[in-house]
Amino acid sequence: MAHPYHHAVSSAKKWGGEPAEFEAIHAWFDESKAAFGDFRHRALRHHAFGIFECEQVFGSTLTLSTGRLVPVRVIGEQHVMEDCGRIPTVQDWLSSITAERWMNSPARLSRLLRGDADVW
Ligand SMILES: [Zn+2]
Repeated sequence: MAHPYHHAVSSAKKWGGEPAEFEAIHAWFDESKAAFGDFRHRALRHHAFGIFECEQVFGSTLTLSTGRLVPVRVIGEQHVMEDCGRIPTVQDWLSSITAERWMNSPARLSRLLRGDADVW
């Protein structure tokens, strides 16, 4: 599994500048690994919506020490392509979740609203 630093080295080879200039963006994509230790952490940010979210966090362009402007979106696309081989959608990830009963349990809410159940 690629470390954010290795993605940053790849970015610097592609667009110039130093790897450190790209590390914050690549680290942002992989922060979710702190919550879930295997590749499934990617479901939280490694998709088209995550790339646009990255742009909201870091702005539309990254200005390198060379003066070159690099669109943040294409840096995000590079990261996701290197990890997943394509740009999946949120739907691609979520539709792979096996439904569990607890994920959709409106009966509890209706019982609470009728007063038949305690609040948690
Ligand atoms: Zn990643």
